[in-house]
Amino acid sequence: MNSEELFRMAQDVLPGGVSSPVRRFEPYPFFAAGGRGCVLESVDGVEYIDYCLAYGPLILGHAHPEVVEAVTRQIRRGTAYGVPSEGEVELAGMIIDRVPCAEMVRFMNSGTEATMAAVRLARAFTGRDKIVKFEGSYHGAHDYVLVKPGSGAAAAPDSPGIPGATVSNTLTAPFNDEEAMVELMEEMGPEIACIMVEPVMGNVGCIEPMNGYLQFLRDITMENDILLIFDEVITGFRVAAGGAQEYYGVEPDLVTLGKIAGGGFPMGVLAGKREIMENIAPAGPVYQAGTFNGNPVSVAAGIRTLQLLDEDLYHGLERMGSYMRGGLRDILSDLDLNYQVAGLASMFQVYFTGEEVTDYRTARTSDTELFMRYFHSLLDGGVFIPPSQFECCFISAAHEMEHADRTLEAVEAALRECQG
Ligand code: PLP
Repeated sequence: MNSEELFRMAQDVLPGGVSSPVRRFEPYPFFAAGGRGCVLESVDGVEYIDYCLAYGPLILGHAHPEVVEAVTRQIRRGTAYGVPSEGEVELAGMIIDRVPCAEMVRFMNSGTEATMAAVRLARAFTGRDKIVKFEGSYHGAHDYVLVKPGSGAAAAPDSPGIPGATVSNTLTAPFNDEEAMVELMEEMGPEIACIMVEPVMGNVGCIEPMNGYLQFLRDITMENDILLIFDEVITGFRVAAGGAQEYYGVEPDLVTLGKIAGGGFPMGVLAGKREIMENIAPAGPVYQAGTFNGNPVSVAAGIRTLQLLDEDLYHGLERMGSYMRGGLRDILSDLDLNYQVAGLASMFQVYFTGEEVTDYRTARTSDTELFMRYFHSLLDGGVFIPPSQFECCFISAAHEMEHADRTLEAVEAALRECQG
């Protein structure tokens, strides 16, 4: 069956024809037949160079042979145990070795679960109810954080089905704006349990923190006895082995991880300082549990993946990222287009706006219709990027120069076409 036929059937049995909203694009998404390295193949027999990479986890590319082998070996020995297994201790140790703030680790199954647990833990630890997140940041699909910015700092539910009361303690602030945060702290500081931040905003495209901003957040949270939580579900093991906290040299109290940590299998991780983490049940009173927590298949994939992520590999990714961003800038300049190229390490995005993008407000100045024309032209040219201006493109270790050059050719053709 081809994608069109499958999508028709899918719409009957899956709301919107997909299992997660961003996967839907017009007129219908292609259905995957398989993935290999940096190539994703559709059931229609078309091959795409993939910069979505399942929204981030596949830093080694699709079906890396050594990860597949580790997983296969594990599956033969069982897929879930309901008792602890050695791999959990090993993977926890690897995370603690790499991620500066990690002294203890709780494994879960998704980034959503990890941020939900992080908020509960921060509230319990501080005895305070309010939390701060940033406009445009995404921390998963649970009620505490699924808010849209309201007037001032007050948030409103971003979906029907979330009681206003549930988010009445969720405050929002603009990213990269020290003054606004100082004001918020003056007004509400003693009531705030945590500031949760994506150190690089990866859910409104790709926005880096301004020089010193993460350190500013570290200082202001210390001054106000507030926990600083880095949501590194995207940046963890992506921008450096120790994530954004290593890259920018700022250590939070807690970190949430996922995506790469599970080597392509479902995973969520909450990690942080021992004195805080020891409050999690059964060591302490803060409840967190899951049938599949520490799932041995995800753990085996995570271990093998982290083992393969050595310094050389990160240097290679950095080189490829710089090459891609440089190539994009050259094309834009040749075509006399004043759009923004954003990104770092193996992350990038093009914003279809003339304004420098530093926060949610400036990201929203982008021409999203133009972006979708660009997306479709790229797709026609055999390149798959996430179908939204407000997602980020990822490079894997399987992307080679030849793929980058073919991609840049497709980008140039796409930009010419969507301007015309
Ligand atoms: N936090 C961030 C920064 C994310 O980008 C995501 C998902 O994209 C999540 C949390 C939620 O993770 P999951 O989709 O695994 O629940």
